[in-house]
Amino acid sequence: MTALVIEAPEVVTLEIVGTRERFPVRRVYCVGRNYAAHAVEMGHAPDREPPFFFQKNSNNLDGSGEFPYPPHSLDVHHEVEMAVMLRSGGTGIKVDESLRHIFGYAIGLDMTRRDLQAEQKSMGRPWEISKAFERSAPVGPIHTVAEIGHPNAGLIELKVNGKDRQAGDLKQMIWKVPEMIANLSNYFELAAGDVILTGTPAGVGPVVKGDVMTASIEGLGEISVKVI
Ligand code: MN
Repeated sequence: MTALVIEAPEVVTLEIVGTRERFPVRRVYCVGRNYAAHAVEMGHAPDREPPFFFQKNSNNLDGSGEFPYPPHSLDVHHEVEMAVMLRSGGTGIKVDESLRHIFGYAIGLDMTRRDLQAEQKSMGRPWEISKAFERSAPVGPIHTVAEIGHPNAGLIELKVNGKDRQAGDLKQMIWKVPEMIANLSNYFELAAGDVILTGTPAGVGPVVKGDVMTASIEGLGEISVKVI
């Protein structure tokens, strides 16, 4: 084995429902504006424009049930999203072949420093500091395809302190999961361990320390995340 000059960075792993084995994460892709009503609330047309993507870091994923409010922002928003975990990948994947690359699904949150994002957008800069910050992607346990199949309809919602904030249906996705995988694979080489956050329905809004976010997706149960 090759000697390393520093300790190897830890591989991020996620819990899987029904087993003690864990899912190792390689990359995290996120799709923007994938529900029409959310595109409209962010000031954009609800059109079926080509999907666009950004990335978070694998170690931004966090299954602890706590979300530390990040520094240098006064407006941090919740975005509840279905997360897709890949068991294999490749390039140029066809839409009708993409489902076989999926290992499972989970509830995820794409936490966003909305004030910094608006600033970056206005200056034409990358979204990095508004999206890929520490522990910015709380995530629940993975439900395997063997357990639940491929969810493509059903309620996706988020409450803060028990009050309704976000609600939508998975079938409202502008770009469906197979299309997203196919499109991504034209630009990146997808691989086992990749995670895709599939966009958020309308109703995004701010949280403050002490808030409890409860996110649920039909078939994937519910997760609870406390803002600390
Ligand atoms: Mn998002």
